[in-house]
Amino acid sequence: MSDKSHQFSPATREGFVMKSYKYKLKPSAKIIAIFEAWLAICCELYNAAVQERRDAYRIACKSVGFVEQCAELPEVKAERQDVARVHSQVLQNVLRRVALAFDNFFRRVKECHKPGYPRFGSRSRYNSFTYPQSGFSLKGKNLHLSKIGKVKVHLSRPIEGEIKTCAIKSEADGWYAIFAVEEPKKEVAPAPRESVGVDVGIESFATLSDDEAAPIENPQYFRRAESDLKKAQRRVSCRVKGSKRRKKAVRLLAKKHLKVKRQRRDFHFKEARKLVNRYQSIKVEDLNISGMVKNHHLAKNISDAGWGQFIMIVVFKAEEAGRTVIKVNPSYTSQECSRCGHRNQITLATRIYRCSRCGLVIHRDRNGAKRIEQKGRAAPSGSGRSVACEEPRTSQATDLESLAITR
Ligand SMILES: [Zn+2]
Repeated sequence: MSDKSHQFSPATREGFVMKSYKYKLKPSAKIIAIFEAWLAICCELYNAAVQERRDAYRIACKSVGFVEQCAELPEVKAERQDVARVHSQVLQNVLRRVALAFDNFFRRVKECHKPGYPRFGSRSRYNSFTYPQSGFSLKGKNLHLSKIGKVKVHLSRPIEGEIKTCAIKSEADGWYAIFAVEEPKKEVAPAPRESVGVDVGIESFATLSDDEAAPIENPQYFRRAESDLKKAQRRVSCRVKGSKRRKKAVRLLAKKHLKVKRQRRDFHFKEARKLVNRYQSIKVEDLNISGMVKNHHLAKNISDAGWGQFIMIVVFKAEEAGRTVIKVNPSYTSQECSRCGHRNQITLATRIYRCSRCGLVIHRDRNGAKRIEQKGRAAPSGSGRSVACEEPRTSQATDLESLAITR
């Protein structure tokens, strides 16, 4: 049951790429109140739509789809004036997010992953709404939003290409507009080097199979910022609930988190760009990051390094530059010798890999990277789960939104 209309971002024409651009907004208090109200309604609609699908399935064993749910919108609008005030395409987009969440769920069931059932979005995590086709226009420094009004945009750079969608997003430090833009694909030269394996690790952020490349060091922003975050967290918990001072402390804490998040993302972009510039085919482990985080005492390091996001950015950048990314099965990549293939027992604490058969002595991460590269090369094209994109977190932003280039 693959229905193209469920896809979140608009389909890209041949010879074009989708890019997204993010700009800070300067909304008036009146506009902010409308933004907030719309987010609340969108979140409520999202949850209601999830509930309806669950009930239909559990009680009547039938599935309710995007088209059916859209058909119910006029009825809802007739009953609820506040819902009727929201642009109809924005409401439809909420239902599309629900549809996407369920499509992803069923896809994962089919692929025998352990799927998480589509969840309800809490108002604090539901932070964006989208005009998927029309209802918005950018004129000079003003963004006109249908049924909302005029909002000033901090347009640091003009947009080239055709704007397809416009999302309004709330972050800890204010409101943003994210535009998905269709741009003509540029001709790209092949990379100077053919192939590389990338092993993400704890000691270093990542190690490459290329002997000439130094490991990518882990910046550990989060660790450094940790004491700072703890302090901010304590300030929140010692303030009286519901008080103005507590609200202020919460805002401060959120801002600090946001700063770390952005630093990490910038780091990921920078390193992804370097990889894509240098190598034509990039092999990475097909890591089930969420599973790893749950099971490991290393969880903090893993989340800090944010490998999932990094790989998503590598895939995104590779696509843009005409490179390929191959995800390989990670089992035994750290145990198998990259010279003779012999499987040696090594523990997580072993830093230097010694092969008992051929005598190879090599850093464990370098060995892992080489093994990943070999496995990726051996995989007949296609079987190595060549990748499009990670699953989007649907109640929140889309892939494209989360990869937006901030201007
Ligand atoms: Zn060996």
